[in-house]
Amino acid sequence: MKAGRDEITYVGPFDATMETSLDDLQEFIAIGGVCRCEREGWIDRYEARRKWRDAVLGSLQPRLRC
Ligand SMILES: [Zn+2]
Repeated sequence: MKAGRDEITYVGPFDATMETSLDDLQEFIAIGGVCRCEREGWIDRYEARRKWRDAVLGSLQPRLRC
């Protein structure tokens, strides 16, 4: 089924984390992550951008805290 423009589509686990930075993802894409305690959550991408600039996603992983 093709998703319409108003639907939310789960893209799933993202593989290219060392080749993709925050700015590479369009603004409507929500980013999730996993804390070191293994809890999952959504990331405030604007806060992440402010703190870590245009970091590649893979470099954010160790810095995530819930
Ligand atoms: Zn945690």
